[in-house]
Order: sequence, then structure tokens, then C-alpha cells
Amino acid sequence: MLLKRVFPFFFFLVSLTVVGQDWNKKRSAVVLTYDDALNVHLDQVVPALDSVKLKGTFFLTAAAPAFTKRLLEWKKVAGNQHELANHTLFHPCDGSKPGRNFVTPDYNLATYSVRRMTDEIRMTNATLQALDGKKERTFAYPCGDTHLNGVPYLDGLKAELVAARGVQSELVPIKATNLYTLGSYMINGQTGDELIALVKKAMDTNSMIVFLFHGVGGEHSLNVSLEAHRKLLQFLKKNEKDIWTTTFLEAAKHLKANAPAAKK
Ligand SMILES: [Zn+2]
Repeated sequence: MLLKRVFPFFFFLVSLTVVGQDWNKKRSAVVLTYDDALNVHLDQVVPALDSVKLKGTFFLTAAAPAFTKRLLEWKKVAGNQHELANHTLFHPCDGSKPGRNFVTPDYNLATYSVRRMTDEIRMTNATLQALDGKKERTFAYPCGDTHLNGVPYLDGLKAELVAARGVQSELVPIKATNLYTLGSYMINGQTGDELIALVKKAMDTNSMIVFLFHGVGGEHSLNVSLEAHRKLLQFLKKNEKDIWTTTFLEAAKHLKANAPAAKK
């Protein structure tokens, strides 16, 4: 009888210790994110992830043809526990910044109002909810632009978004509190070994690394080869006793549980 009472308490204490120090009882966490809703994500990335039973996060631009023309396939992806996440409706970026010749006048963030941007993000949340039935949603800033004419446009949406991915290249410590600008590594042209070296850096420092992919085997100017991507997945699978590969949403919820004050 006494044992019955003492054991749950003991496990409660152990779990408190573990939650306070670790990534789901592992040395580090890895989050694989894929931006802009590309065909190659459905055709190559999802099958590659499924073949090793790892989950990814897809930051979807809801007006992208590879999203609107393949809705049922994205629904299936969600049903397979991958994360469908918010990357706005039209992917507006600030065209007034250098090197932004690709920004069209219709979708220039510099000419948006905060209301218009907020509406886009809410509409994308609703669209994704229609597919996967979920209310918890994460966000990634198009082009990494966090401000609209000097205003941090996500401020009014924090009740509707659990976390957001930034684009600064930094590992995320377990005590991170900046849930709306979590760092990530933009991948473009790295080899499999270089991707693995980044994971090892996270393992050595008990951190989380968020990968930011666009094209995988093509379809985007920012690209990584299928071979490099496959090599990374194999390393993650082989080392899964030390590495928690999870979705951006699950990782953000874990950070929140570790640092209840996290909200910035
Ligand atoms: Zn994007």
C-alpha cells in the first residue's frame, strides 16, 4: 500500500527533473522545417520522412499552387502526424530591402497594413484547420521579415499562434524564452556531412537545431540535394536514442513547459 503511494511521487519527481533539463529525455532536439509549399515536399520529402518514421513541419503558403491543387494530399500528410504550419496566404516580403527584386507590387509587405497582414495569417490558420482539424498553429515569417514598417506585426496574433520561427542562425537552448523568434539554419547547398555536423553541434551543447529547407532535390533557388537530405535523415534515425526529432509545434510546447514565462 505504501509502495503504491510512494512510487507515483517518485516518478513525478524524476519526471520533473527530466523535463527541467532535457529534450524529451534526449541530448538534443532536431526540427525539420520545409517552406513555401512545394511539389517536391509532397513528392520527395514526405516519402523520405515516412521511410524512417520521422515527422516534419511544413510552413505552407496557402495560395501556392502546390498547396491549392493538392489539398487532399496535404490533408493526408497531416493525418500522418506531420505538422501543417502557417507561412501566410500570399508570402508578402518587404520589397524595400536590398536584393528583393522578386517582390511584386501586389504582395509587397512595405505597402501592407498590419490589419491586412493579420487577416492573411488568420485566413491561413482557418484554411489549415479545415484540413487537419487543429487549433494550435505555428508560424514562419516570409523572408524572415518580422516587422511591417517598423511594427512587429505578429504582436496581435500571439493568442492564435503557439510560436514562430525566425531566420537567425542560432541553436536554441532549453531555456529559450523567445518563442516568437526561434532561430533556424537556412540550408542551401550543404552536403550531408555538413548537415550532420550541425546536428552534432546541437548534441554537444544540449541544444535544439531547427533546419530551414526550401527545395529538396530542386524546385527552389535555395536547395539541398536529395542525397544530402537522405543522409541527414539516416543519421537522425540511427541516433534517435540521443536525438529527439520532432515538429516545430511539439518543440515549442516543450520549451514553454520548461520556461513558463516564455512568451516574447
Ligand atoms: Zn518562404
